[in-house]
Amino acid sequence: MATIPCPVCGSTSIEGWEVTIEGSLAIQECTCGECGRSLNDVYELCDRIVLEEDRL
Ligand SMILES: [Zn+2]
Repeated sequence: MATIPCPVCGSTSIEGWEVTIEGSLAIQECTCGECGRSLNDVYELCDRIVLEEDRL
């Protein structure tokens, strides 16, 4: 899967920690495995899918 490299050093070895949901955004605290900087990964909700087994 494609990922965004560290904006500081360009490394893609990012370690992810706690995720906070804010509205349609998910923000994950991360640490770069190369330069050790603290980063926030930001994800946006893109879909809402109805699960098969929940259909009436
Ligand atoms: Zn880095």
